[in-house]
Amino acid sequence: MVTSAAASKAMPDTTAVTATPCDVLIIGGGPAGTTAATLLAAKGRHVVLVEKDHHPRFHIGESLLPANLPMFDQLGVGEEIRALGIRKYSAEFVSPQHDNRMQRFNFAESWEKDMPYAYQVRRSEFDQVLIRNAAQKGAEVFEGCKVTAIDFHPDSVTVDARHDDGRQARWEAKYIIDASGRDTFIANRLKAKHRNPKHNSSALYAHFEGAVRHPGPAEGNITIYWFEHGWFWFIPLADGATSVGAVTWPYYIKQRNGRTKEQFLLDTIALCPPLVERMKDARMVTAVEATGNFSYATDHTCGERYVLIGDAYAFIDPVFSSGVLLAMRGAEFGAEAIDACLRSPAHATSILSRFDHKLRHGPKIFSWFIYRMTSPTMRDLFMDPRNYLRMKEALLALLAGDIYDKPLKFWLSLVSFQVVYYSSALFQLPRTWRAWKRRQHNIQPVLDEEIDGKAAING
Ligand SMILES: Cc1cc2nc3c(=O)[nH]c(=O)nc-3n(C[C@H](O)[C@H](O)[C@H](O)COP(=O)(O)OP(=O)(O)OC[C@H]3O[C@@H](n4cnc5c(N)ncnc54)[C@H](O)[C@@H]3O)c2cc1C
Repeated sequence: MVTSAAASKAMPDTTAVTATPCDVLIIGGGPAGTTAATLLAAKGRHVVLVEKDHHPRFHIGESLLPANLPMFDQLGVGEEIRALGIRKYSAEFVSPQHDNRMQRFNFAESWEKDMPYAYQVRRSEFDQVLIRNAAQKGAEVFEGCKVTAIDFHPDSVTVDARHDDGRQARWEAKYIIDASGRDTFIANRLKAKHRNPKHNSSALYAHFEGAVRHPGPAEGNITIYWFEHGWFWFIPLADGATSVGAVTWPYYIKQRNGRTKEQFLLDTIALCPPLVERMKDARMVTAVEATGNFSYATDHTCGERYVLIGDAYAFIDPVFSSGVLLAMRGAEFGAEAIDACLRSPAHATSILSRFDHKLRHGPKIFSWFIYRMTSPTMRDLFMDPRNYLRMKEALLALLAGDIYDKPLKFWLSLVSFQVVYYSSALFQLPRTWRAWKRRQHNIQPVLDEEIDGKAAING
């Protein structure tokens, strides 16, 4: 935990505008900020949520996990999300190392059998439902208003913001929740954000019309295609469009050589024959977005008067579609912690220490798999999953995001999977060694300019 004094040093001084008091000020109206706002407002707290954009706005992160669904009901938006999403019953993996065979993981066969599907959504619509709901549930929501400075005092935090029309705003909050996503508002000011030394990737993505869909209930499944330079996602959306993205090692981005981003994405798709099959009649209907070097973490999760949640704390990689789930669960833990601190300030240190433990759990569990996901051993295990000791069910629970409050039996199954992974890797030591060496080279960062100025992390 970082002290307020240390944090204050990094914060600019504020100017003379009258401050409006509130219990909690939340920076950012994505899934993390809106979830925290709704939960705290439901507990009767005076919550102010400040979002710099206007919803609806484009955001990447369209594939949700089954473990998200109980949270939607808890927030009271289950029906609305159902209406705008397409059901995703399975996650599919296609590997060129295995003759481009497809392995389908059905969520209905997971550890718990009561989470058989999730949704694919347009984030513009999804995030809009969440922010409108936060306002309806009693949070004071300001869109088109950017937080520009915060200043910590012993018992409160002053927050300065600027509306789109130039008006200044100021609040005096008892606590701050930083849910500013990849802008990492507090972490940047504290210089507490670091590139992840164990992982790195870049992404190029766009929406297409006319991509081939599976028939029947499999229509909404996500498909992950591994290829030489990384992997692709294929995410069908409810209105017939398909989101396709290439997540590549950063070095690959350097091979663009003057091609437009649109041409570069099409040329990259051409490197993956089974994806080409599904894209042969597809037409790109949006501009291509590029994001680089996106794996980072902050060296702490909370301070005396603030918590960091969602991408404002860390982001690793989208391969398990875990970002929105981690953002919303983190928001739940943050809201619980701040409500408890407001009720019982004398216990704030132990409350925030419990929050720290809970927040780190999700990224820790996913990261072990993410770091190994492109290794030949992991691909073998994914393409030929066995259910000895319920290992496949545990893996499916991970794919469903069902990793909280699990019994010991579950963790033993997941650890068994890890033991099998290490044993298989040892059994093929020369291949493992070559893959490890290649990975060390592959994760080297590229310059932000090489990703077309769209990149990356500031820390
Ligand atoms: C290439 C890629 C693909 C991905 N695919 C998936 C996927 O399929 N499924 C999935 O679950 N996740 C995916 N993710 C991750 C997902 O996008 C994020 O994890 C998720 O959006 C995090 O939610 P959040 O609320 O923490 O942040 P965000 O959704 O980024 O929300 C942060 C909000 O804060 C606002 N903000 C920032 N600074 C300020 C400020 N100073 N003042 C006021 N407002 C501010 C921003 O405008 C934004 O609306 C992907 C990520 C990447 C990079």
